[in-house]
Amino acid sequence: MAEIAIKGVAKRFGGFTALHQVDLPIADQEFMVLLGASGCGKTTLLRIVAGLETPSQGEVWIGGRRVDHLPPRERGIAMVFQNYAVFPHLTVFENIAFGLRMKKLPQADVECRVNRTAELMHIEQLLKRYSGQLSGGQRQRVAVARALAMEPDVILMDEPLSNLDALLRLEMRAELKGVLAASKTTTIYVTHDQVEAMSLADRIAVMHQGRIVQAASPVEVYRNPAARFVGSFIGNPPMNFIPATKAANGSWSVAGLTLPGPKSDKQRIEFAIRPEDVDAGSEGLHATVRVIEPLGPHTLVTCDVEGGLFRAILESNAGVKVGEQLRLAPKPDRIRWFDPETTNAL
Ligand code: ATP
Repeated sequence: MAEIAIKGVAKRFGGFTALHQVDLPIADQEFMVLLGASGCGKTTLLRIVAGLETPSQGEVWIGGRRVDHLPPRERGIAMVFQNYAVFPHLTVFENIAFGLRMKKLPQADVECRVNRTAELMHIEQLLKRYSGQLSGGQRQRVAVARALAMEPDVILMDEPLSNLDALLRLEMRAELKGVLAASKTTTIYVTHDQVEAMSLADRIAVMHQGRIVQAASPVEVYRNPAARFVGSFIGNPPMNFIPATKAANGSWSVAGLTLPGPKSDKQRIEFAIRPEDVDAGSEGLHATVRVIEPLGPHTLVTCDVEGGLFRAILESNAGVKVGEQLRLAPKPDRIRWFDPETTNAL
C-alpha cells in the first residue's frame, strides 16, 4: 500500500512563502494531479514529497511511514522531472536500465523490463542510440520509461509531456493513463495544462498562490468549483460571473432575470454559469452580441452582460448577429453562486 499524506506542509524561501500549510491525502493507487498557474507552488510541493526540498513545516508520509527526514532514495519513489535528466553518454537501453542495475536485478529481468517499458513509450527502435543524440521529446520518453521500469509504488512526474508536439502528447497521455492504471502505482503529476489534468486525474488538486483551493474529481472541480478561482481557471473559455443583487422573497436579480438562489445576508453576491450552459431563447440574461467565432461544431459568442464580458457556446446554426440583443437562459441545475468577499461557493 502506498498512500501518501501531506500534512501541514509549508515552505518558505527567505521571506517568501511558496506553500502555506498544505494538507493533501492521496489514496493508494490514486492518480493525483497538481494543477495551477506558473509559480503557484506545484513543483515545490512535488520536490518536498520527493525529498529534493525540505519543508519549513509539516510532515510527509508514504505507505504509513514518515519520510520527510529520509533521503530521496529511501522513499520508494521514482521521479520524472521537467528537465528529465537522462545521461547523454549512455544508450537509451542503459538509461532505462540504470535504476535496475543499481538494484542488482539479474540481466534477463533487466532486459525484459527495459524492452517492455520502451515498447510502452514507443521508443523500442531507439534503444541502441546514445541519449545525447535524441530530440527533447524522445529524451522525455526515455525519462518516463526509466521511471516506469523501476515498477515503483509511487511515481512523481513534473510536466513529463511538456516537450512533445501536440499529437504525440495526446497519444502519450492516453498511454500513460493506461500504463499507470495497470501498474497499480500511486501517482502525483504536476501540470499547468488543464486538459491534461482533466484527462489523467482521479482527483485534481487546484493550486493558487501556495494553497490548494480544491481537491476533487475532474467532474467535480469543473461542475462545482469550491471557489471563484477554480471556475475561472478551469474551462476554456472559463466560467462567466455576473453580479447578483437581492430581490424580493429571497430571490436574486441577475442581468434582467430574477432567479431563486442561496440564502445570504449580503445584498450582492455573484452568479456564475459555464459558457455551454446557456441557451438562446425568449427569456434569459440580457446580452448584447459583440463577437461571433464559429468553432465548427459550436459557435463561441462573446456578449456584453451587465457591462462585463460573457461568453456563450451556442449551436453553430444559432444565427446570431453582432449588435443583436440576446436572451440567454441559464440551465437551472448548472447555476452556481459565489460570495464576492471570500470568493467561496455559496
Ligand atoms: P512552474 O509551473 O512555473 O514550474 P510552479 O507552480 O511549479 O511553477 P514553483 O516552482 O513551485 O512553482 O515555485 C513556487 C514559487 O516559489 C515561485 O514564486 C518561485 O519563484 C519560488 N521558488 C521556488 N524555488 C525557489 C528557491 N529555491 N528560492 C526562492 N524562491 C523559489
